[in-house]
Amino acid sequence: MPEGDVVWYTARRLHDALADRTLTHSDFRVPRLATADLTGDMVTEAASRGKHLLIRTRGGLTVHTHLRMDGSWRVTPAAEPVKDGHRIRLILANETWRATGYQLGVVELLRTRDEQRVVGHLGPDLLGPDWDPDEAVRRLLAQPARPIAEALMDQRNLAGIGNLYKAEVLFLRGIDPWAPADDVPDLPTVVELARRLLNANKERGWQVITGNANRGEQTWVYGRRGRPCRRCGTSIRSMGQQDRVTYWCPACQRAGRSGAM
Ligand SMILES: [Zn+2]
Repeated sequence: MPEGDVVWYTARRLHDALADRTLTHSDFRVPRLATADLTGDMVTEAASRGKHLLIRTRGGLTVHTHLRMDGSWRVTPAAEPVKDGHRIRLILANETWRATGYQLGVVELLRTRDEQRVVGHLGPDLLGPDWDPDEAVRRLLAQPARPIAEALMDQRNLAGIGNLYKAEVLFLRGIDPWAPADDVPDLPTVVELARRLLNANKERGWQVITGNANRGEQTWVYGRRGRPCRRCGTSIRSMGQQDRVTYWCPACQRAGRSGAM
């Protein structure tokens, strides 16, 4: 699941392969950018901003991409043949490495000075230098009646949480996903826990929340519908919430529910 930590890790891999090297090949396989060509330009850095990836060039351009649900990047030696051609949306290569973006949800090319246009709406980045827990809480509470699970996913409040971290953080704090934001006890601790979990997983590129990295053991509730809660044995439930599925333990997660704490 591409959440903020995976995007952070991807940015670092892209940075290591592309930064301070001249592009010898670029191939934008999206109709609007079919004629774009960055050959001869030098990549200065690759960085993440929430779940957005920004690859900047010396020529003052930024390649903005977003993984959405199914996207991924692969870095391979430039000499290796390209695989899965029909899924490719973007290739950026230098003499040594080739970075290939598959099924990217967004591919845009813009001037670096215009980056705010695509990331300016984001709240504080959980893994960014701009992280500001007070501001994140302030934004979460700006819509006090909004269910906390929806509010945590809204990248305008804080940037980096996806469906997995949403479910796991609320479980660990015992919070009902449908609790209104302003009924949630101790929101500062909730956002700091999210930051700590993303931070702990960012170097690995995939998520272990329980401390157990074995397959099927990594999460408390996410993806575990109908399975027994690891704490109390109650069946984990799932239900559509906004346009995503929320997983939770109805026994462990009562905080913020009206009439219960
Ligand atoms: Zn439980």
